[in-house]
Amino acid sequence: MNTARVFDELLNALRAALGAAAVLTPDAQDPLDRYQQDWRKRYRGQALAIVRPANTDEVAQVVRLCAQHGVSIVPQGGNTSLVGGSVPDASGHQIVLSMSRLNRVLSVDAANLSMTVQAGCLLADVQAAADQAGLLFPLSLASEGSCTIGGNLATNAGGTQVLRYGTARELCLGLEAVTAQGDIWQGLQSLRKDNTGYDLRDLLIGSEGTLGIITAASLRLYPRPASQMSALVACNSLDACLRLLALARQTLDASLTGFEVMHRAPVALALQHLPAQAHAATALLPTSGDVSALPEWTVLLDTASTRVPHELSAQLEPLLDTALVAGLIDNAVIAQTETQYRAMWTLRETIPLAEKMEGLMVKHDIAVPTSCVPDFVRQAQAALDMAFPGCRVVCFGHLGDGNLHYNVQGPAHQSDQAFLSQHEHTVNDIVYDIVQRLNGTISAEHGIGQLKRDELGARQCAVSTQWMRAIKLALDPANTLNPGRLVP
Ligand SMILES: Cc1cc2nc3c(=O)[nH]c(=O)nc-3n(C[C@H](O)[C@H](O)[C@H](O)COP(=O)(O)OP(=O)(O)OC[C@H]3O[C@@H](n4cnc5c(N)ncnc54)[C@H](O)[C@@H]3O)c2cc1C
Repeated sequence: MNTARVFDELLNALRAALGAAAVLTPDAQDPLDRYQQDWRKRYRGQALAIVRPANTDEVAQVVRLCAQHGVSIVPQGGNTSLVGGSVPDASGHQIVLSMSRLNRVLSVDAANLSMTVQAGCLLADVQAAADQAGLLFPLSLASEGSCTIGGNLATNAGGTQVLRYGTARELCLGLEAVTAQGDIWQGLQSLRKDNTGYDLRDLLIGSEGTLGIITAASLRLYPRPASQMSALVACNSLDACLRLLALARQTLDASLTGFEVMHRAPVALALQHLPAQAHAATALLPTSGDVSALPEWTVLLDTASTRVPHELSAQLEPLLDTALVAGLIDNAVIAQTETQYRAMWTLRETIPLAEKMEGLMVKHDIAVPTSCVPDFVRQAQAALDMAFPGCRVVCFGHLGDGNLHYNVQGPAHQSDQAFLSQHEHTVNDIVYDIVQRLNGTISAEHGIGQLKRDELGARQCAVSTQWMRAIKLALDPANTLNPGRLVP
């Protein structure tokens, strides 16, 4: 049968199974960019159709029909991937399987500190449902209003609370998933302990839609903190930030939930592109009312406790006093109101958007052992200055996890597009060689997708690549699920 007839037959079968309204085909009137273009607008694909099943059985039917017709599938949650993992290729031959209609919270088990949700639930809705039950689901990303829990698990997302609660992997107790053959795997348990062989849940987490489609998840909850407090701190070096982190860990122990750092450049970008959002926070620090006086490094330190607020401030205030006396910090302010607390987090969360508004950059999401972060920044800056005099670095991230977003823009006189297309490989080589020498990783939390697939193949141990390929071949021999992504 020729390809066009196969595609027509598949589309008819999908419409018959799910209803015509669940099968969208892009056309000139509605190119359906929200499904076909990535968040950074770096990749734009062309899908045969966007299919929106309503439940697990329908997901299984879609996969079976696609497998029968030899058509591959790109699973998609909120399409906030920063590595081009969730958009189709340009062939017009792939189905985007959108999980947006599987968006229900199924149950909350307060006594077991767990909840069960469908995979297309927005992360913000998962957090809200936990909160309504008087509990906490701590995964927190700037994209939480758009990304889904299925996407978070498929990418093993990180975010701002990893220091205390771990990544999405640590927050998942069980999964339900549809295999590449269209069978349903039932692993939706809510146990803390289960030693019955290979951990299939952990295999799926971080597999970026290449091994199975996550349809539901059982999640680990925590008691909701009674008090939460953040401080914005000005430091003049990353070494000082690191010493402050050690002091904060020692003093606050489990109450320390986040330790974010922002170099002067990303804060300046936030002030430039989103002044209304950013200024409310920077104005809180005495020396940083205007861009020229911004501190070299701004730390956003987050604490939470199930005890009363008074006990938290009794720990935080002396900690900052000690740091000031020891010369680790230049000044600090503790949020006194909910508005100030929100302003501090808004500053941090506007940075990715401000960067996007600034233009194209060569982006990195690296991690090195926390103790090596200052060394990484020193070495990378020196090597980049040498190779590209005048280049601009935008660096911020989760110092508590050794994870930096380290993004490089060309010199001001060169167009961003020209710098990216001419120098991306060289910039990557410079940055990743240093990361590798410091025993780090080229992807701390965003995943591999299509952006970093070849880089992963070139840099990871050969045995890792062999095992990844063998696992992919065993579970998806026809390469139906997200081909060309993740697996080198
Ligand atoms: C402003 C902004 C801030 C961000 N901050 C962070 C951050 O702090 N930390 C972080 O880790 N990430 C961050 N991200 C990246 C992104 O939000 C995460 O990777 C998120 O987990 C993706 O979820 P999603 O639902 O949008 O997935 P998508 O982008 O739709 O998909 C991501 C990958 O998962 C696969 N996938 C999606 N759903 C499923 C499913 N149900 N089953 C199987 N595979 C699936 C897709 O095929 C794709 O490979 C940020 C993104 C933006 C835009």
